[in-house]
Amino acid sequence: MSDLPALHVAIDGPAASGKTTVARLLARRLDVLCLDTGAMYRALAYLALETQTEADNEAALCRLLLAGDREIDEARLQSNAVNAIVSTVAAHPRVREMMVARQRAVAARGAVVMAGRDIGTVVLPDAPVKVFLTASVDARVERRREQLAHAGVDVAAHRLREEIEERDRLDRSRAVAPLVPARDAHVIDSSEMTPDDVVNEIVALVTAARAAT
Ligand code: C5P
Repeated sequence: MSDLPALHVAIDGPAASGKTTVARLLARRLDVLCLDTGAMYRALAYLALETQTEADNEAALCRLLLAGDREIDEARLQSNAVNAIVSTVAAHPRVREMMVARQRAVAARGAVVMAGRDIGTVVLPDAPVKVFLTASVDARVERRREQLAHAGVDVAAHRLREEIEERDRLDRSRAVAPLVPARDAHVIDSSEMTPDDVVNEIVALVTAARAAT
């Protein structure tokens, strides 16, 4: 058994900044768990659509969350309909409270790379490695377009831009846990970087953090 504290890596950033891709690659490199918290909010948004629950009905959303776990495939989680309501669903304080409790429970079990909006600020404020991953809006639109094209979905760039900018606006301006870099986060602008470049930079941060403990 190692005496090192469990490795917690927080990766936050705006929509389509590459957090999930980087978090997955990094977790594989470090051989630890990866938790994409965006998928948790997306799953709730999907269930709200499916059950015709209003995105502003906090009590009903909390009941949906308590109703149990279910697998929902990636295409459904990433659909336009989910994109359109997920930030409204995620803005409710009680919804966030329940999500944060689940996320912390995962971290309490051991090492994890966790991606989201409030991981470094709220969920794991003591994480030894915090990254705020950004990229220009142009780069983010292009990446999302490529990702969708790959999945056989053709969406006009201007629509993607509108969706990304609107979600950023809502996520940055909400009262509870708004999207903002933690004071001790390393800001990485990935506009001109490949996912591997970003992962290498974070691995160096992890190595430095481990050396300091
Ligand atoms: O990361 P992703 O784009 O999949 O997240 C979808 C939405 O879920 C975000 O736009 C945000 O509204 C919400 N979210 C959040 N807090 C997190 C992760 C995601 O509010 N930790």
